[in-house]
This record gives sequence, C-alpha cells and structure tokens, in this order.
Amino acid sequence: MRQITVLEAVHQARRTIGDIDARMLLQHVLDMSHAVLIAHSDRELLPEQAQYFVQLAQRRAHGEPVAYLTGKREFYSLDFKVSPAVLIPRPETELLVDLALERSPVDCLLKILDLGTGSGAIALTIAKYRPLASVTAVDASNDAVAIAKSNAKQLGVSNVNIIRSNWFDRLVGERFDLIVSNPPYVAGADPHLAQGDLRFEPSMALTDSGDGLSCLRTIIAAAPAHLETGGTLLVEHGYDQAQTCRLLLEEAGFGAIICRPDLAGIARISGGICMI
Ligand code: GLN
Repeated sequence: MRQITVLEAVHQARRTIGDIDARMLLQHVLDMSHAVLIAHSDRELLPEQAQYFVQLAQRRAHGEPVAYLTGKREFYSLDFKVSPAVLIPRPETELLVDLALERSPVDCLLKILDLGTGSGAIALTIAKYRPLASVTAVDASNDAVAIAKSNAKQLGVSNVNIIRSNWFDRLVGERFDLIVSNPPYVAGADPHLAQGDLRFEPSMALTDSGDGLSCLRTIIAAAPAHLETGGTLLVEHGYDQAQTCRLLLEEAGFGAIICRPDLAGIARISGGICMI
C-alpha cells in the first residue's frame, strides 16, 4: 500500500492544527530542518512515522503546546530542551537578554545571577554570549534545575553554576553585578491561565496564585543585598505591572530606573541601578 507523503501529511493535519504547527511537528518526526522538509515534500513517510505524526497532531489539536510535543524551543537563536516542568521560552523574554547583554561589556569578569531560570534560556544565553562572565542560575524546582543543566551541557556552556534555590535562599552573602529574572507574574485570577499554552505550563512558573506581584516584590526588595553598588537589576513583568515595579524599585533604593516595551509595545522589562 502506498504511504502518505510529506505534503499529504501536512495537508491533512493543517485542517485541524494549521500549517505552521503541522510542519513543525513533521520536522520533529522526520528530524528534518524546514528547508529539507520543503525539498522532500514528495517523500513517503514510514508507517511508524505517519502514526507518530498523527498522534502528535491529535495531541496538538487538544491544546498541548508544540514545544512540549517536540521537546524543544528556539530562543535567541539557540535550541533549548523543554518539558512541562519548565516555562516555554517566549520571544518577549529575548528583550530581557538584549538589555542584560547591553549592560555586560564582553571583556569584563562580571558576576551575573538569573532567578527562576526554568529551562535556563536567559542564563545560558547570557553565559554563551559573555564567556568571561560567571553566571549563577537558580530555580526552586529540581526538575527545572535538571533541564537547565542538560541545556548547559548541550549548548557547551561551562561558565554557569545551576543550583536549586528559592530565590536568594542559597545565596547568602553573595553579591552580583547584574541580576535578571522572569518570575511568575500572572495574577491567580487572570483568565489567560486557563487558555492556550499556559494551561500546560507549570503553574509555579506562571503565577503566585495571588495578585501576580508577590515574587516581583520579594525579588526587588531583596536584590540590593545581593548587588554591588552600581549593579543592575532587570525583571520581566506583566502588561499592567510597570508602574508598580517602578515604585517597588524606588522603594528598594534603585535609581536610573528604566522600563522597556516588548515588540507588541507592552511595557515588559523594568530595572534600575542599585544606589546603596
Ligand atoms: N509571559 C508569560 C505569559 O503571560 C508569563 C511568564 C511569567 O509569568 N513569567 O504568557
């Protein structure tokens, strides 16, 4: 019996999951790049490949994120392994990395900390592009620490120390030149938690189950004790949290406060310089 071709598989699946997701899942099943997939559109799938693809397409149709089905997501042009134990890296978080790199001269021996590292996307990208920096990445989840460590190995990043810690708990007495974080900032009552990819992501990485600000409060208040004078804190936050973050930063003794919009024009990253 004739097997289904690449093109036919995409055509069948795109009715339920759309063209882009169908292609991404098929690339994963066949272990092919986008360009190779297009060049081999008339190639026939093996029966087990066709079966695996149909299974993945069905799971996608039920809402599971593509990144969890393929086990990976690109961030800042690097490939990160992901699982439902970690948040899927988002394009808007690349802005946090841009700002961190801008503030980290390539020839300086900086000490950098990433709080709530998840897959390690932020910490490992900074470490990769600033090989002289010494990066510490912490996460409260053992599973996240394991994934971040595996990503460090896969990306060949050795200037990073990944440890399990609830925010600064295991960092007593340590100071850094730069602290970055994309903490859980979605309010517990935000309806987005029950929609799209967020339904499948670890709740502890998304929300404090309260007003969405408790982790930002903790991090901003505790950061000066772990920053050198003149050091920088940069945090990602929700669409309506920029004003509160500015107040929290001012209260904690930060100056030269910045707030940057993401590509959608939403105030997304705030930060400042530790004056004390
Ligand atoms: N940016 C994510 C979202 O709203 C939330 C990530 C986070 O809480 N840090 O989908």
